[in-house]
Amino acid sequence: MFKIGCHLSVSKGFYHMGSEALSIGANTMQFFTRNPRGSKAKPIDEKDIEKFLSFCKENNITSFLAHAPYTLNPCSSNPETREFALQTMEDDIKRLSLLGECMYNFHPGSHTGQGTETGIQQITDLLNKIITPQQKPIILLETMAGKGTEVGKTFEEIAGIIEGVNVKEKIGVCLDTCHVHDGGYNIKDDLDGVLEEFDKVIGIGRLKAIHLNDSMNPCGAHKDRHEKIGEGHIGIEAFTNIINNKYLKDIPFYLETPNELDGYAKEIATLKKLRTQE
Ligand code: FE
Ligand code: FE
Ligand code: ZN
Repeated sequence: MFKIGCHLSVSKGFYHMGSEALSIGANTMQFFTRNPRGSKAKPIDEKDIEKFLSFCKENNITSFLAHAPYTLNPCSSNPETREFALQTMEDDIKRLSLLGECMYNFHPGSHTGQGTETGIQQITDLLNKIITPQQKPIILLETMAGKGTEVGKTFEEIAGIIEGVNVKEKIGVCLDTCHVHDGGYNIKDDLDGVLEEFDKVIGIGRLKAIHLNDSMNPCGAHKDRHEKIGEGHIGIEAFTNIINNKYLKDIPFYLETPNELDGYAKEIATLKKLRTQE
């Protein structure tokens, strides 16, 4: 089944977000767990969440993807920054448990000059402190573009983090098409080759979510500037291949393109037309 949605705002509540998803033809969605700049989370409104969950059930909206604030840095050279990331993520996971089987995506972070090896070590240390076998949400590592000192720009770096995690059944990967393209993986001309590489290094079974974004920059630019689907360097043909690929077709897709609601509705409609698989 084609699971397609986009990033939505949860600022007016979960139920409101669910109804927005339905109104734009989405059957899944992503949202920030709190203000993306990482401030305090809003108190939980259990009534709102209950209403949201039954609304989603009725309308076959599933695979909720929560995104951690992108300002967190689990591998900063500053121990206080790392501690802040740990506490925020721990709190997020606790709060997300109310949603049931959702997924929690985060950016591995930037090593800020400490080196990739140290960065990977600090990320696995953090994950080993917060992941429990009992928790409901699965934690996803997002593939990064390699801007500055970002960790997670190669499949090897992502695999290195996973290797150090004790509770492996709670960890997965979110592949961002703009990020991997900017990171130097040619998903435009060699999607099969890139996925083979992913499978060899990480294991395709770890892939749990896909961020669908075109890129403003050429492959390998290490920039991370998202573009509307079909208007960037990746192009519509590549997205047609991506959403119909046999390894990817059953994984949920989330748009994070520069759009308002109406723009997302259009992109979702376009992608549905390009989908040839059931
Ligand atoms: Fe992200
Ligand atoms: Fe992303
Ligand atoms: Zn990005």
